[in-house]
Amino acid sequence: MSAQIEVVISKDIHRVLHHQFCLVIDGELREAEQTFEVFNPATNEVIAHAPSGSSAQMEEAIASAKRAFVGWSAMQHEKRSALILEYADALEARKHDLAALLTLEQGKPLHTMAISEVEAAIFWVREVAIRFIPIEIIEDTEEHLVELHHTPLGVVGAITPWNFPVLLGLWKIAPCLITGNTMVMKPSPYTPLTTLLFGAIAADIFPAGVLNIVSGDNELGQQMTEHPDISKISFTGSTATGKKVMQSGASNLKRMTLELGGNDPAIVLSDANWRDIIPTLFWAAFGNSGQWCIAVKRLYVHSTIHTEFVQEFVNFAKDMKVGDGMSSETDLGPIQNKMQYGKLLSLFKDTKDKGYKIALGGEIDESLTGNFVPVTIVDNPPEESRIVQEEPFGPILPIISFDDEEDMISRVNATQFGLAASVWTSDRDKGIALAKRIEAGTVWVNEIHIHGIDIPFGGHKQSGMGVENGHEGLCGFTNSKSYMFKK
Ligand code: NAD
Repeated sequence: MSAQIEVVISKDIHRVLHHQFCLVIDGELREAEQTFEVFNPATNEVIAHAPSGSSAQMEEAIASAKRAFVGWSAMQHEKRSALILEYADALEARKHDLAALLTLEQGKPLHTMAISEVEAAIFWVREVAIRFIPIEIIEDTEEHLVELHHTPLGVVGAITPWNFPVLLGLWKIAPCLITGNTMVMKPSPYTPLTTLLFGAIAADIFPAGVLNIVSGDNELGQQMTEHPDISKISFTGSTATGKKVMQSGASNLKRMTLELGGNDPAIVLSDANWRDIIPTLFWAAFGNSGQWCIAVKRLYVHSTIHTEFVQEFVNFAKDMKVGDGMSSETDLGPIQNKMQYGKLLSLFKDTKDKGYKIALGGEIDESLTGNFVPVTIVDNPPEESRIVQEEPFGPILPIISFDDEEDMISRVNATQFGLAASVWTSDRDKGIALAKRIEAGTVWVNEIHIHGIDIPFGGHKQSGMGVENGHEGLCGFTNSKSYMFKK
């Protein structure tokens, strides 16, 4: 079972829920004429009504970010840094509200994943606030000096998904603002509340227009990607939407960072200490109920250990409790929305209809009130099966047997995705040699899901374009500008 962190559920959360959620435009909290319902996926009850920003309000938000850019980009780095640190403190003061709201709208367990997502996000904001891009001296001779500077881009449009709305939202805000840009953010219509709350917190700290939040439907996203006053789109979501974003962003040659889908393999070689790593691999696949871009989605295990491995994996997995994330007993929460739940119903049906061997779970009980899906393990389905080829984004994992490493590597790479992967072996050199052959933006050897402020993260192939985090991630929010001086 997962370790529990003590969480104080603030009585304030009821006040937060009854409080009207507002857009943040030009430093003010604004109502919208229309609202939309936000559901708790554990009960399918409406927990709040979120403002559905109009196209005119999106225009206003972009115009205010454009006005704010003049002062914000000219502000000294130290001053911007101090304001972002103040923001981190203000988020910290509301972290229990943010975590409880995250569980209510997203479903992930409060005592484990929700509080750790919020804490990780705040840590990120603090650390990024003190990063800067130094001036690079390219040439310094008696006659000539060449310097490389990085200048802000202008207004950045941020579009976020529903699986990690707090972490992925703040991952964009902190580097965007510290490098001198302003932002308009549009959260997923499935999980707008936490974003509106951290937006309202920001409204008390940053100058008007520096950070605007407009919730509403997908068309607002398209309005941003087409808008001539937005210089860059920082997008996290599916590969299908990422392609649309890139297409409509071409109108004014917007800069793009696209963090898209994945179908990450984990490879367990015969010499791995495989019994010891089962808990790690379980959480790497099933954490957030599999709704994770870098979840292990294909587990390749050497044929000599495959049968025993599956048995032990099932033994570990079978007692996991799927339920309402507000309960401290819950290990895995519900599927966040009905659209994703429907996709999983179809995938489970295909797995059953094709007669693949189910080692655990396999049946979704549709009579339950919440969007609950059982932990499911499919034993050695064929490589061409949907469960191996598609990104399920749910708690279902194929464990695939392999004999020949060459064959396994070609299967691992035979996908449009290239987000991340991991290799598990007691032979470090062999692990590194295999890692070098995997087509993915991140490959871990004998560890997984390690991230760092200074470690670039991004996908190869159709898993994305550009990176977040690290020096490269910061540079992604800037233009390169070469200065040359004749001495
Ligand atoms: P999605 O693509 O359906 O939606 C993402 C966002 O795009 C939402 O805010 C949505 O409103 C907006 N949107 C929809 N249509 C749009 C359009 N035409 N123009 C502009 N914006 C539009 O993705 P999702 O279902 O919210 O998220 C799940 C996907 O995100 C999975 O594929 C997952 O792997 C991926 N993901 C990737 C990463 C990463 O870092 N690579 C991280 C998390 C999630």
